[in-house]
Amino acid sequence: MPELPEVEVVRAGLAPAVSGAVVERVEVLDERSLKRHAGPSEDFVDRLTGATLAPPSRRGKFLWVPIESASGEASARTEALVVHLGMSGQVLLRTPDAPRDRLTRIVLDVRHPEHGPLRVDFVDQRIFGSMAVDALLPTADVPAERIPSQVAHIARDPMDPHFDDRRFLAALARKDTGIKRALLDQTLVSGIGNIYADEALWASRIHYDQPTRALSRAKATTLLAEVRLVLGKALAEGGTSFDAQYVNVNGASGYFSHSLNAYGQAGEPCPRCGRAIVREQFMNRGSHFCPFCQRVRAARPVRS
Ligand SMILES: [Zn+2]
Repeated sequence: MPELPEVEVVRAGLAPAVSGAVVERVEVLDERSLKRHAGPSEDFVDRLTGATLAPPSRRGKFLWVPIESASGEASARTEALVVHLGMSGQVLLRTPDAPRDRLTRIVLDVRHPEHGPLRVDFVDQRIFGSMAVDALLPTADVPAERIPSQVAHIARDPMDPHFDDRRFLAALARKDTGIKRALLDQTLVSGIGNIYADEALWASRIHYDQPTRALSRAKATTLLAEVRLVLGKALAEGGTSFDAQYVNVNGASGYFSHSLNAYGQAGEPCPRCGRAIVREQFMNRGSHFCPFCQRVRAARPVRS
């Protein structure tokens, strides 16, 4: 499943090709890929045809391409093309005459002022992903910024320049839950998938079920720094395999599997202490951790 780093690779790859491009033609080959669009497929086609696209944005693993406003001002934009990659969605950037993938669901023919005609293909094997034209709303904390209504409930991700560390740490301290549950809670912080949670917890020596109330501010600060390190590392590695003519995301590739310390390493020695990494069932998935380095710390006694 694509996570923040993989989606960022798509955003960065699309940016030079779609920013300023005009949509000349839209073809919907499979209406199931419009399940998150509020109107019929004709409405989707109408709203996009003739539109000028603005630079794509991302929050967590949500990606959207705003439709440029008449004035060109970001705060005047009212709609965006939201791309949900789901489990297997791919955005392929192609020349107009390139053969189509068999699993292509939606095709946008665009014309860029410098690069000329290009094709943006939405390919999706399992159809958990979708495209939709959605209304843009002002964000609560940055007045000039706009976000699609479908993404408005998602918290900022830790790579976002407007992410507020102090607010996050305060919200975390108020939570009455386990730390990994909190990291995966998209209304608290977005963009941290199972892999990045396990890796950041390992690096911070925190057990995945550590109660947030018993996590010190210093430890939580360390954890946030480790989350940024692990995401930054994945972004750097994802960027190296990117080909400008072929933006591609799928569930199997993109992870930095050769540099994982805990995730998927059950039975392998912990790179820090040499004891075996353990996998436990957690939220229908797995948690990978070192039972020696990552132990649940008891809550501090409540001072009266
Ligand atoms: Zn260890």
